[in-house]
Amino acid sequence: QHHDALSMFRAAVDEFADHTMVAYFDGELTFAQVDAESDAIASALVADGVAVGDRVAVVAQNIPHFLVALVGIWKAGAVIVPVNPMVGDAELRHMLSDSGAVVVFCEETRIGSQAWLEGIDLTAPVISMCPRDYQHRDDERVLPPCPGTITGRDFAGIVASFAGRTPKAYTPDGDSPAALTYTSGTTGRPKGAVNRHRNLAFAGQVYRDWLPLSEHDAILGVPPMSTITGLAIGVAATLLTGCRYVINYRFAPGVLVDIIREHRPTFLVGPPTLYTALLNDPELTASDTASLTHLYCGAAPVPPVLVERWRKRFGQEIRVAYGMTEATGPTHLAPVGVPIPVDEITGALSVGVAVFSTRARVVRPDGTVDDEVGDGEPGELIVSGPQVIREYWRNSEGTRQTIVDGWLRTGDMAVRHGDWFFIVDRLKDLIITSGNNVSPRQVEDCLLGHAAVREVAVIGVPDDYRGEAVCAFVVTDPTAVVTELELIGHCRDRLAPYKAPRRIEFVDELPKNIAGKILRRVLKDRVVAHES
Ligand code: ATP
Ligand code: MG
Repeated sequence: QHHDALSMFRAAVDEFADHTMVAYFDGELTFAQVDAESDAIASALVADGVAVGDRVAVVAQNIPHFLVALVGIWKAGAVIVPVNPMVGDAELRHMLSDSGAVVVFCEETRIGSQAWLEGIDLTAPVISMCPRDYQHRDDERVLPPCPGTITGRDFAGIVASFAGRTPKAYTPDGDSPAALTYTSGTTGRPKGAVNRHRNLAFAGQVYRDWLPLSEHDAILGVPPMSTITGLAIGVAATLLTGCRYVINYRFAPGVLVDIIREHRPTFLVGPPTLYTALLNDPELTASDTASLTHLYCGAAPVPPVLVERWRKRFGQEIRVAYGMTEATGPTHLAPVGVPIPVDEITGALSVGVAVFSTRARVVRPDGTVDDEVGDGEPGELIVSGPQVIREYWRNSEGTRQTIVDGWLRTGDMAVRHGDWFFIVDRLKDLIITSGNNVSPRQVEDCLLGHAAVREVAVIGVPDDYRGEAVCAFVVTDPTAVVTELELIGHCRDRLAPYKAPRRIEFVDELPKNIAGKILRRVLKDRVVAHES
């Protein structure tokens, strides 16, 4: 067993030197190549004065450079701050200054297209990365061209000029911080979670031993490496098992289907929006998806109809995964080969059982970590185990509220039936209407059962009489004709009357963050701004 992700990588290099580590677009890098190139990067960082414990940011989509930079950063003893380039300028500035990054690896397309450096006191040197460095095919669907406006240091130049140099050998211990990962920002401003090496090493073990994954597998790298899902599934599992990591730059349905056909991946984890997009692609066939023997869906509530539609069309079972940034990936997974129970009251699919070495409780939200509620009763889910962080970065107030006696308060409302857990909703999003609690998620699942509904988000809107009223934002199938009354009736036939929406807003699309999560808070702000 390894307690740090860098030792996992070194062991994989010893055992699988010539195996493909990362496959992309039209090429690949072996474990030995990533080892050599990351040596060059680490040497350059050390030459720049980067010291043990320093933070180094990588602002990029899923490109081969990301993995090379990450291993190089760890070899230099530093901590990676992964950042998705799709975040807005303000958020990007916040992450760079909050983390105190001393060097910033940045995708050239991001540098070239935004004035994000203005207004930030960034003394950290920037190393630009052209996504096409490793790519031969000139296909703008796959990768954007680089503006070529950057002078100064670039990634490929550094790899070439430091080739053959090896940095002084450094091995982190389990307690060394490995990554400073920002939460998705679904409920507010992203928080920096300090994921230590032992947290990440455990995340890799979960995937290796639970599924299990081996060097014969190939992970379809859709989740961005800038999120905990990408780091846990793509990076940690690949380093630990020696399997292939098949990356795509960023989600684009047609391109993804090409990648599936070409690389035949075996394992996919993605948010519900990803599976919905794949289902909306009429080109995708059962023989395309056949190689994907492990399909997991999480990051947001998984609508039961989604799982049903996938089963009908492709004959495959999507299983649910539950986790969070603060838990360095998954805490709950649905076991393979076991039917997944459904909660009778909410209709929600189970997110599975707690993974090994992990404890989970459902407690009173306003009580202590020992105030467990009974089986089948709703409460806050709390978890504890080797994947849970000890603190947020420079946020002692957040840490005090969230990490209590080694337990992580998830902020999610859950019920358990024996070992099976069910996520009801986020505590913050519960709607209280005329004194009744409504889980927006249950109303969403109900609306998604209507044939004309493609996507939906339910929120509580201010209501003089009821306190809050249930309001649904709906994206419909463009070929369908459906009225507000019909959808409200659909819910009234299936739910307690107070849960049925009072109001339906038809919209062309729903606001989502880069993790593909629907942002209920943006809709709430919109309603409040509109009505005041
Ligand atoms: P922020 O904390 O900044 O508001 P976030 O909570 O969305 O953003 P993440 O750490 O990416 O940031 O997501 C963890 C959350 O995602 C969980 O707390 C939970 O609400 C939700 N989630 C993850 N998996 C599932 C699942 N299978 N079913 C329902 N919700 C899920
Ligand atoms: Mg959160």
